[in-house]
Amino acid sequence: MINTLLICGGGGSEHDVSLRTADFIEEKLAAAKDIALLRVEMDNSGCLTDSQGRVYHIFYDRKIRDEKGNSWDVDYVIPAIHGYPGETGDLQSQLDMFGIPYFGSAPEPSKICFNKIKTKMWLSALGIDNTPYEFLHSLEIEELEKAHSALEAWGEVFVKASNQGSSVGCFKVSDTSELEAAIEDAFKLSPYVLIEKALKARELEVAVYAYNNEIIATRPGEIRAPSDTFYTYKEKYAEGSRAVTFIEAAELDEEQLQWIAKVSLRTFKALKLKDLSRIDFFLTETGELYLNEVNTFPGMTPNSMFPKMMENHGHNFSEYLTGLIRSAVSSSE
Ligand code: ATP
Ligand code: MG
Ligand code: MG
Ligand code: MG
Repeated sequence: MINTLLICGGGGSEHDVSLRTADFIEEKLAAAKDIALLRVEMDNSGCLTDSQGRVYHIFYDRKIRDEKGNSWDVDYVIPAIHGYPGETGDLQSQLDMFGIPYFGSAPEPSKICFNKIKTKMWLSALGIDNTPYEFLHSLEIEELEKAHSALEAWGEVFVKASNQGSSVGCFKVSDTSELEAAIEDAFKLSPYVLIEKALKARELEVAVYAYNNEIIATRPGEIRAPSDTFYTYKEKYAEGSRAVTFIEAAELDEEQLQWIAKVSLRTFKALKLKDLSRIDFFLTETGELYLNEVNTFPGMTPNSMFPKMMENHGHNFSEYLTGLIRSAVSSSE
């Protein structure tokens, strides 16, 4: 038996989204007879609780213990947490220290990709086209002036907290009078703020993952948010979302498909990602392609693109994950 700990929830703004991702993973592992799954939810203080309310701690000897001192071996962890402390790499640092193998990227690549500013520094250094940007470190007047000049130059901007997902802390601003309030709101969530040129663009997403030691980049899927807004938290998850998704984006020419596939694989390899990611692109009306962001632990809710794109590519999610678990455990023994 492979004792597998599925950790969901976490202390970030995407706690509830993570529970739905964990539902999906639980369902996909249900038929694997050699995998014993224990699901625990992490609250804001880092406490791990199972469905019966029992509290657990992870120990250095690759064991998990409940409050009564009962212990179980942990062979593998699935940190199914979007945002802090999963997608940020913090939990993975602890797992590395304890020597427990886990699903997904290591701490350092996770940190780079979860921080939109660090990601852009890397992409720019790698020569990978990404949306024009400015970084802000404070609300000092010189910093705000930078943001105002950017808005003037670009007409419309996205103000983003540097370390969030699910569109939390992400604001579209076209009116100068709204710019500073958006920046202040973004600073409430993160120490640095990103100002990006707002693009009139199609949104494309690629699932990039390891399957039998090969890195696969699927064909891009597409998201179409309603024209009066963008792909906000509400359009991602709320009932009555008006966003439309396509598992395969239509009308991309061979050159565009090749560029996207090449950049996706290069990014996955250069940033040393592991197991899975969803890499997102913009295709502007004038045909420019930009990499938007890299998600090292993409959502797996019923609306989410990552598992659908993988299955569309011909890979069964259950076989993929059970395969990763079995090989990670056998190589760590
Ligand atoms: P995810 O849930 O995918 O992790 P996120 O919170 O990391 O999302 P982004 O993907 O950077 O945030 O932005 C959220 C959404 O905002 C995008 O899907 C897109 O609809 C819109 N958006 C972000 N940046 C831009 C831009 N520069 N131009 C146009 N639209 C943008
Ligand atoms: Mg993201
Ligand atoms: Mg995300
Ligand atoms: Mg995104």
